[in-house]
Amino acid sequence: MLRDGPSVLAVGPHVDDVELGCGGSLLRFKREFRATVHVAVFSDHYQEPTYVDRKREAERAGELFGYDTLEILDHKDTEFPQEELKIQERLRRLRRELQPDLVLAPNPSDTHQDHRVLADCAIREFRYGEVLWHYEINQFGVPNRLRANTFVSLDGSTVGPDPESLSIGQDSLPAHILSAGGMNYAKLKVVLAYEAMVSQRNKPLLDPELMLAVMRVRAIQRDNQAGYCEAFSGRINV
Ligand SMILES: [Zn+2]
Repeated sequence: MLRDGPSVLAVGPHVDDVELGCGGSLLRFKREFRATVHVAVFSDHYQEPTYVDRKREAERAGELFGYDTLEILDHKDTEFPQEELKIQERLRRLRRELQPDLVLAPNPSDTHQDHRVLADCAIREFRYGEVLWHYEINQFGVPNRLRANTFVSLDGSTVGPDPESLSIGQDSLPAHILSAGGMNYAKLKVVLAYEAMVSQRNKPLLDPELMLAVMRVRAIQRDNQAGYCEAFSGRINV
């Protein structure tokens, strides 16, 4: 069990990965367990001029999610294999500076090479008593191969932020999602901070219908018949 006030570190290869993979869980950890939430994003897609808004949007999403710290690094998108040593060194610095109790990282079986490299570095780095969970990111045309064995329920509007206080999403979300309540709803609204990415329509993974469907399927797998969950492949190093 998470003790009160744990330090949680979520590492993402690119902007939006953390929010998609574990954004609802971070909201719950922060509100219910008073966790200190640190997020490190390793690439901001800076070399792509059409993605100029992504870093700004990531910072906006971080504000809405209430991250205690957000660090956006400058590793090159798709070139993490060539930068693996530097990535490992940066994770070591984060481990020493933040001393996290729980680390959330990508899935080592992900097909995206950047995701795999960051996951492998996390496995090597966080083996000194930290709890390490791998979150899921869906990719086009392939199964995500996450061996889910850890589930975080996102039900219960009493423990999440008040979704109505988030002044985005009303015009974008279907009515049945607006009425859903709970942190699954809050997550959907906050992810919409990536408005440029959503509007570019090159990120169908940010489709609220899809995000909700993934969380619904994971709840069924957890035997939560009516709810919503995020799923992880959990590894506890003790
Ligand atoms: Zn990514």
